[in-house]
Amino acid sequence: MDGPVEVAPGIWQVREELSAEVPLFLHVVVGRRGAALVDGGLPASLPAVERLLDGAAVARGPGTTGRPLRWLLNTHAHHDHIGTFGPLRRRTGAVVVAAPGAVGWLEDLDLNLREFALHRPDIIPDSPELRAELAPTYGEPCPVDVAMTGGGSVRLGGPTVLEAVELPGHVTAELGWLERSTRTLLLGDAVTGTSWSFFHGHVLPAAYRRSLHRLRELVREEDVRMVCLSHYPARSGTEFLDLLDIVEAYLDDVTATVEGALSDTPTGLATVWHRTCAAMDRAEEFRGLAMIAAHLDEAVAAGRARLVGPDHYVAVRSTG
Ligand SMILES: [Zn+2]
Repeated sequence: MDGPVEVAPGIWQVREELSAEVPLFLHVVVGRRGAALVDGGLPASLPAVERLLDGAAVARGPGTTGRPLRWLLNTHAHHDHIGTFGPLRRRTGAVVVAAPGAVGWLEDLDLNLREFALHRPDIIPDSPELRAELAPTYGEPCPVDVAMTGGGSVRLGGPTVLEAVELPGHVTAELGWLERSTRTLLLGDAVTGTSWSFFHGHVLPAAYRRSLHRLRELVREEDVRMVCLSHYPARSGTEFLDLLDIVEAYLDDVTATVEGALSDTPTGLATVWHRTCAAMDRAEEFRGLAMIAAHLDEAVAAGRARLVGPDHYVAVRSTG
């Protein structure tokens, strides 16, 4: 556990470990009139969030002092980004902001769990073991006060403004937050982990590719100096561009591996999933399954594969 540290003027970060291979970085942005927490970690992240707010001199409820916590800004509604929003909203009256497409998952955790982890019970059964593993990562649902689309902004006083940028791909609805006065970009999982023992996952491969391109343009056009991410250490704009190269190559690798698992013989989704996990040495779990199903859908849409029965695909060989 590190920090909290001030990674850019008025932008504080704390690190905790979700597992031996997956860190989680939490951020608060402090302006003259108040502060905004960007993502809330897991329910169990509350002590880390409190340390972060204390370190940044932000009040975290009755009996504490500092700048008021006015905003709870969500990047996306995965369980490790929303877990403390409920209690913090109750304690501080902070306004919860999320992408319109994330509202359902924040406000209905059963819907969130079903669509995130239990989306294919015919392939990954809805078992007591899976439920038990995920239960502690789901806290209480949190009402969303403002559904914000790209270009919307949150003013924290003085020059400190956070502007929402739409970055779908990892999930269908994700926002990044650009703080122009410090040229800092705060991201959730708009850039995914590429080297974990399981697939971090993305459910819209083509949109993910466009979002990576958008990020590249944004860093150049806005001269972004610092990029803060949920699962990577903060880095300079230049170092972030290098990371984008790695992630784009990874996305090419996933695409080639999924589509390489197809042949002239009909192959089922579960088989493509097994083959892709084996070829890339990843554990078989629900995130990877959703990602692979999405790649197959897009291969069909692009004419590189054909659906020949429920969940069964053949490769379409390019001619000439
Ligand atoms: Zn995520």
